[in-house]
Amino acid sequence: MIDIKKVRADFPILNSTVNGKPLVYLDNAATSQKPQVVIDAIVNYYTTINSNIHRGVHTLSQKATEAYEQARIKLQQHFNAKKSFEIILTAGTTHSINIVATGFTSFLKKNDEIIVSAMEHHSNIVPWQMLCKRTGAILKVIPMNNEGELLMNEYDKLLSHKTKLVFVNHVSNALGTINPIQEIIDKAHNVGAAVLIDGAQSCPHIKPDVQKLDADFYVASAHKLCGPTGVGILYGKEEWLNKLPPYQGGGEMIKQVTFEKTTYADLPHKFEAGTPNIAGVIAFGTAIDYMNKIGFDNIAAYENELLAYATKKLLAIDGLKIYGTSKNKTSVISFNIENIHPYDIGTIIDKLGIAVRTGHHCAQPVMDFYKIPGTVRASFSFYNTFEEVDLLYNALVKAKNMLC
Ligand code: PMP
Repeated sequence: MIDIKKVRADFPILNSTVNGKPLVYLDNAATSQKPQVVIDAIVNYYTTINSNIHRGVHTLSQKATEAYEQARIKLQQHFNAKKSFEIILTAGTTHSINIVATGFTSFLKKNDEIIVSAMEHHSNIVPWQMLCKRTGAILKVIPMNNEGELLMNEYDKLLSHKTKLVFVNHVSNALGTINPIQEIIDKAHNVGAAVLIDGAQSCPHIKPDVQKLDADFYVASAHKLCGPTGVGILYGKEEWLNKLPPYQGGGEMIKQVTFEKTTYADLPHKFEAGTPNIAGVIAFGTAIDYMNKIGFDNIAAYENELLAYATKKLLAIDGLKIYGTSKNKTSVISFNIENIHPYDIGTIIDKLGIAVRTGHHCAQPVMDFYKIPGTVRASFSFYNTFEEVDLLYNALVKAKNMLC
């Protein structure tokens, strides 16, 4: 059970006003708000142990290293990775995907095939298109239906011995659909292909078990799950991370450097060149602890109730159409109101203190599929309330009356 009053008190920003109205923050799919413990973790790091990590002999450096590596272990436990060095600390999902996509350059040849889904974020499309350009590999797309669900029989047809890699999101940021990733992974493995799962939108709602899933790579961003921006993970199976070449060269990622030859550090440091976002990683660990304390089962149950309530309420508005109507979805409602541009709705309800996202949500192929320029997206978190759904409804009715 979520104690909503207690939970909301953890987030200082939820008490604020925007345009003279209490903030109703419904843009959680873009980024989550941060509880005080996470903010404190950042402040504490800079006020008590700020120093550079790894190899420093002085006490402060050792303390910072310990806190940083403890966060890695928390993340290992959360994602259930076999080894802590299978958790690479990155700048976020986009960075993590680029590490893999760049690394695969040496594994692909002309006419090899790689498979993406029709409902991906640009982060999980563009790096692979760049990979295809470098290697001559061919990008294939799993299509979707009107409900925003992947056509799994079409996926079956795309898979062959030519398939080298499949990369899909666990949850679509534009529609909220939860994709059948276990089936996607198992079928890819049957033809010998590796799989990368983009967990940017699933991680705030679902605790993934990378070993059970048997995912080769799983990527996520801290800022979607109550952590800071500019931090994320690349989980990779040990054998893949050993095979994959380093992404960036620099300090931290080497064993030995001479002008003739450089040897690379062992995992995870091989992929962690340069001084990382130390405070951010430590605070990511704090955010994971915070969310686990609330409990992902509690979070999912509460958000599902919010989603059901909000879906019913919003559909009562004449001319409102929801995109992404799968029964299997997280707390995201992407919608339009007949004859009104999403941007106009977003602008008007912002004046009433309500933060939603409008536009293509970095998923232009999804908008093209529905032949629309964009949607209004309201995305709910475990700290949102039923009263906030009512405020959204009232604001939409008001906007509609003004614009129609
Ligand atoms: N994939 C999905 C499904 C996302 O929702 C996002 C963030 N909107 C990303 C990738 C990119 O994440 P980041 O900007 O944190 O790198």
